[in-house]
Parts: sequence; structure tokens; C-alpha cells
Amino acid sequence: MIREVLRSIFKKPATNLYPAQKLVMPEKFRGKLKFNPVKCIGCKMCMRDCPTGAITINKVGEKKFEAVIDLGKCIYCAQCVDSCLKKALEATREVELAQQDIKKLKVTYSDESGNEPPKEA
Ligand code: SF4
Ligand code: SF4
Repeated sequence: MIREVLRSIFKKPATNLYPAQKLVMPEKFRGKLKFNPVKCIGCKMCMRDCPTGAITINKVGEKKFEAVIDLGKCIYCAQCVDSCLKKALEATREVELAQQDIKKLKVTYSDESGNEPPKEA
């Protein structure tokens, strides 16, 4: 027992000091989605294969599409990423998605960078 106590004093902690230290998720982690409207052809395969109905692709112009993703419904399985043959969707390592207002979990991506459009003041 004494040996075990002494060993744990000098051992590195098994837990992370989150949120004091930012987490770096593994390379293939499936976090918040990123959408590139330039690559999207509006085939809606991502919508068809999404198990929770979290993603909607809308036509916003001639050969222009936007993605609306409900982050509250998304289970971060990345099936839509695999289904997209044009590689318009990508799973990022972003995990800090908590919101106090449930409406803010529904986000529209129409920007090429995959970022949400700036919020109106
Ligand atoms: S599968 Fe890809 S190309 Fe097709 S609608 Fe979805 S994001 Fe666009
Ligand atoms: S990651 Fe999974 S649950 Fe989320 S939008 Fe894509 S297919 Fe749907």
C-alpha cells in the first residue's frame, strides 16, 4: 500500500486539466462538421445517409448550396463525410459546442471556409 501511494505521488496525472488546458483531440477525431459550398453539387447523399436527419442541403442559387446542420441532433458519426463523393464535408477536431440557447445549435454554412456566417448584432 505504501509503495502504491508513493508511486502515485510521482506519477503523471491520468486526467486533463480541462478547461484550464485546451484539449487536443486525436487526428481522426470526429467533431464539428465543416462544409465547403464550392465543392458541393447538391446531390444530397449526405442528407439521405444521415441517421438522425441532422443535415439539410438547400439550393441558394444557380449551382450554389448551403448546409444547415443541427448540432443538437448530430451524433458526430461522420457518415455524411464518407457519403460525400465531392469531399465537401469534413469532420474537424472541434469539440467545444455547448450553447445555452438551443436555437444556436442549428447552424448554416454557406461560407467557403466552412465557418458559420457572422451573427447579426
Ligand atoms: S453529399 Fe456532398 S456534394 Fe452531395 S449534397 Fe452533400 S455535401 Fe453536397
Ligand atoms: S456526422 Fe452523422 S449525424 Fe452528424 S450530420 Fe453527419 S451523418 Fe448526420
